[in-house]
Amino acid sequence: MKIGILGAGQLGRMLALAGYPLDFDFVFLDPAAEACAAPLGEHLHAEYADESVLAKFCEACELATYEFENVPETVARFVAARVPLFPPPKALGAGQDRLGEKRLFDALKIPVPRYMPVAAREALDLAVRNIGLPCVLKTRRMGYDGKGQAVLRTQDDLDAAWTSLGGQPLICEAFVPFDREVSCLAVRGRDGAMAFYPIVENVHRDGILRMSTPRANDPLQAEAETYTRRVAEQLDYVGVLAFEFFVSAGRLLANEIAPRVHNSGHWSIEGAEVSQFENHLRAIAGLPLGSTALRGHSVMFNFIGTAPDTAVLAAIPGLHVHHYGKAPKPQRKVGHATLTADTAEALQGRRVQLDAVMENTR
Ligand code: AMP
Repeated sequence: MKIGILGAGQLGRMLALAGYPLDFDFVFLDPAAEACAAPLGEHLHAEYADESVLAKFCEACELATYEFENVPETVARFVAARVPLFPPPKALGAGQDRLGEKRLFDALKIPVPRYMPVAAREALDLAVRNIGLPCVLKTRRMGYDGKGQAVLRTQDDLDAAWTSLGGQPLICEAFVPFDREVSCLAVRGRDGAMAFYPIVENVHRDGILRMSTPRANDPLQAEAETYTRRVAEQLDYVGVLAFEFFVSAGRLLANEIAPRVHNSGHWSIEGAEVSQFENHLRAIAGLPLGSTALRGHSVMFNFIGTAPDTAVLAAIPGLHVHHYGKAPKPQRKVGHATLTADTAEALQGRRVQLDAVMENTR
């Protein structure tokens, strides 16, 4: 079966790598000439909104999905009118607007940090008065990896934040003094069956994910699953859904959803019985879902900007290296590595070796 993927970045690449053993082929649509999944299938190189190429994309595949969350919802609807597209376009739309997303969480009784929409300079003053300082001003759309946001700590920060972000729809939300950040990765099949990975603890720096650790038996697992299920059912979701939360005073506060496989689930390639990539493909193709159970202990590190030398990495036992085939660039995710071991103690021992190598890449 040929699967069409909108977007051909590293997530598309890892979907294809998981898909070939299941006898899937791939066609990608991506405007970037150097898209890193392109070598793994047919690459249609065009803007997403180019309807003649989109029509060709639909003819080339039996089933479609997306790996880039900012594919325009109109494009998803064009595709969905021609071939089955999972997750459904409304799930894509739900994750694209931070305000709509927060309202969805509110409607589903999922706790969120206090927030207010900000469309004008005076509205920012009002929001800061209501929410209090510190708070975070974010663009409603197109923000990723900490881009399009500013932390406001004092009244003096408002003008500068408005100068850099104003002129587009914004949202202001309370700054959460979180104890940790976690994500819940779920997969939902076409028949509505769901499976959940153990929740993942995430460490960010400068708004970019650096490290993810799956946590067996986390006390917040059940609560995270309840909220993730509510969103998935509301959106008639099919595929892998990621839900990011802050943990504050022992409770979850919703941050955002991503309607796709997610960076915080990359450990699952080696650390789970069936990876998030394979499970996404199983779900959209209508196959039985695979086990989300852990295989031992694991931790994933992103390579940001550049990757350490493969020969050095390969000398570390239990380390699984993934280069994305992307040129080095500051703040760019160019690869990741997942460290695995049978016991927590063994994992810790291997981390000491890896830490020495990772110095400049996280
Ligand atoms: P986002 O793109 O909204 O996921 O933000 C990227 C990262 O910035 C998050 O993972 C947090 O580490 C931090 N961040 C975003 N919003 C908040 C907030 N309201 N309070 C505290 N930290 C935040």
